Amino acid sequence: MDHYIYKISSSKTDKIYIGSTNNKYRYSEHTSRYTKGLLCENSKKLFDLGIDECSFEIIETFKCNSYEEQLDKEQYYLDKFKDTVINQNRAKGLPKKEQNKRYYDNNREKIIKYQNDPKQVEQRNKLEKERQKVYYHCSTCNKEVKKRNKARHEKQKTHINALHI
Ligand SMILES: [Zn+2]
Repeated sequence: MDHYIYKISSSKTDKIYIGSTNNKYRYSEHTSRYTKGLLCENSKKLFDLGIDECSFEIIETFKCNSYEEQLDKEQYYLDKFKDTVINQNRAKGLPKKEQNKRYYDNNREKIIKYQNDPKQVEQRNKLEKERQKVYYHCSTCNKEVKKRNKARHEKQKTHINALHI
């Protein structure tokens, strides 16, 4: 699959934003999120100077097999342009939450396709059914309780009363 390193620049400043994606239309995601007030990446600083002053350019198209590789390539460019990039985070070593968000952003179509795949749906339903069937023994009440109802069970009167016997 083709991946891209892209650059967002503004005629108002020499600063640039570097990103990596497998989505050719990534720029419209940046701009639409910006106009909705949802953009929190450093590219926001460029859009704040005037969205019409900004431009998007793919600086390298490459093939890669993993998200790791994609980030390595992004880091290469972050280093190369270290004096002008507006990015504040390294490509790798982002907080886990941020990594997940970026992964989702970059692979949304793939993820949605995977989640809706009939085989996956069937597998999830099967697992859920199995989870429903798991019981544990409540030694307080001396009875079998569905594991997924444990929290609810422990709030029930019969259980609480049994505790005080
Ligand atoms: Zn109990």
